[in-house]
This record gives sequence, C-alpha cells and structure tokens, in this order.
Amino acid sequence: MSFFEDSKGESSHATSPEQVAHLRRILDTHANEPSNGKCPICGIRACPDWRYAYDQLAAAGQLMAEPERWLRPTGREGRR
Ligand SMILES: [Zn+2]
Repeated sequence: MSFFEDSKGESSHATSPEQVAHLRRILDTHANEPSNGKCPICGIRACPDWRYAYDQLAAAGQLMAEPERWLRPTGREGRR
C-alpha cells in the first residue's frame, strides 16, 4: 500500500491527461450557447465552472481549441 505515499508530495502540481480530458469536457459542457451566449447548465455567461476549467487548462498549457470559440461575444452574427 505504498502507492499513495509515493505520489503524495511530487505530482500534485502536474496536470494529468485524465484531468485535462475532464477539464475539456467541462469546457465543452459549459460552453456558451451560441444562441444566447450563456452556459446551458448554469444559465450565465462564462460561468464559474467554465472559468475554472479554462484557467486550469491555460495554466497547464493544454488549450487545444481556439479560445475564440468560447470567448467570442454573441449578439452580432456575422454570417447567414
Ligand atoms: Zn456552467
């Protein structure tokens, strides 16, 4: 049972692939709805969950999609 003792001190700062996948899913789930610019779960714009996941991914250097997709303000649609 020394698994946990071993990994106690060191790897708490690294973002594991599992975490990244988890955070990405949060970003996806809490992404602003294009129609109203709000999170479909929380009902607000750039909800805390989304911000948290975005922050963590950014800190880990793991942003893999263009931030514009999420950060882009809605209200004026450029294309028809
Ligand atoms: Zn949300």
